[in-house]
Amino acid sequence: MLNISFLDIKAINAQYRDELIEACTRVIDSGWYIGGSELTQFEQSFADYCGTEFAIGVANGLDALILTLRAWKELGKLKEGDEVIVPSNTYIASILAISANNLIPILVEPDINTYNICPKNIEAALTDKTRAILPVHLYGQLADMPAITDVAQRHNLLVLEDSAQAHGASIDDRNAGNWGDASAFSFYPGKNLGALGDAGAVTTNDKELADTLRALRNYGSHEKYKNLFQGVNSRLDEIQAAMLSVKLSHLDTEIAHRRKIATVYLEGISNLDIILPTSIDEEAHVWHVFVVRCTDRGALQKYLADNGVQTLIHYPIPPHKQQAYVEWSELRYPISEKIHNEVLSLPISPVLSIEDAEKIVKICNEYQS
Ligand SMILES: *Cc1c(COP(=O)(O)O)cnc(C)c1O
Repeated sequence: MLNISFLDIKAINAQYRDELIEACTRVIDSGWYIGGSELTQFEQSFADYCGTEFAIGVANGLDALILTLRAWKELGKLKEGDEVIVPSNTYIASILAISANNLIPILVEPDINTYNICPKNIEAALTDKTRAILPVHLYGQLADMPAITDVAQRHNLLVLEDSAQAHGASIDDRNAGNWGDASAFSFYPGKNLGALGDAGAVTTNDKELADTLRALRNYGSHEKYKNLFQGVNSRLDEIQAAMLSVKLSHLDTEIAHRRKIATVYLEGISNLDIILPTSIDEEAHVWHVFVVRCTDRGALQKYLADNGVQTLIHYPIPPHKQQAYVEWSELRYPISEKIHNEVLSLPISPVLSIEDAEKIVKICNEYQS
């Protein structure tokens, strides 16, 4: 029987085994493991890739979000109690970063077709306490950044992109990471640009912000034993930076393959019970996950599993229904709730073969509700 896993990270990294081992050996032999040339080099290549002036490596994607908001507080651009607009259907990390800074998350519903935050709903949620927008490029598709940038400029709001799922996505040749005042990336192993452990980064064109982040990630210190801020330890180590430099050099090839798989699904799946995702533009989507919708999502997931196709759900519980935010449990976000009840992610990855994708299409088309 068919046995297609959702995401084979081992196989993804096996493609680059020799290069990864060589990079790892270089770091081991250097005797320098934190804050060295591997980090500087990766930060420069990643900034170049995003089209920004600066990239600041940190320990993970959540820290990239938390520390950016924290830096804006240190710089006097945000203060406790300010409202930050965030999509109601995002992964919880985007919201945790706001709460962790004693800022107020204001959940705003997405567009049902793109699953990304709806600019009109942002406008409707603005109050005199709104200071920032935190759009998320969910599932690998850039949010409507031209419209969001317009709202932000008219109302003098900061924009922090959550680009954890969208490395390399672009609109009008402007990449994820280069739309907001800052952008947070995750290099968790399962992300499109994945380390072999935890890692993250912030990109920005703002030198003052970049400098503050470099201090905050390192105990609040620019200079050894001199502490400007009550910082944290959130550093991207040399081994992970070296792994990421290898992975970054293959990212565009991997994105191209993801787009091929997406096209096979989009052109092949014709079952009316399965609602396909909408991509606003080929370049705007890097297909971190390929998310379909089905009214009886559980039945479709079981059917696919019975036929040897592993699927996942991104995400089963909306943030406002999480125990962690029990104070929001009476709030209603009908579009998010519908999305969370109906979404199912089909396998997509740089190592999923076109033949396997075609088999999945056939299985999907034979599904009967
Ligand atoms: C993965 C992810 C994060 C957090 O990244 P970590 O590296 O796991 O901390 C934040 N936001 C979104 C949308 C993510 O998908």
